[in-house]
Amino acid sequence: MTDEEREARLRERLQTIRARSAKASSWRSSTQSLTRLVNRDGYVAVKARLSREDIAFISGARDEVLAFADLALRLLDLHRPQEAGGITSDPDRPLRRCRACMARWPCPTVRTMAEFDCGAPGS
Ligand SMILES: [Zn+2]
Repeated sequence: MTDEEREARLRERLQTIRARSAKASSWRSSTQSLTRLVNRDGYVAVKARLSREDIAFISGARDEVLAFADLALRLLDLHRPQEAGGITSDPDRPLRRCRACMARWPCPTVRTMAEFDCGAPGS
């Protein structure tokens, strides 16, 4: 498989996951009220009305979230800062570059990932 084919396949997989996730219902408001119903054994008996899209989403959600988290962690492991060397105007803040893409630190990949916080609690 060529790099282009690999990238096209990844892009397609990500678009499929995004489309499936967008079609499914959000559980955020339901889970807030469900939390209050947790019984002594730590469970809630759920009666839910699920669409075909919801079922498709739920069936893959765990594996896809794990795969996404794994991908993100691997990207962060790859894109790390390193001293760029050379002379800078501020000796206390040496010029740093990403060791993967050689862009000035923080590189565009890490900046983009840092913007991602839609899954954070409270957001
Ligand atoms: Zn980078």
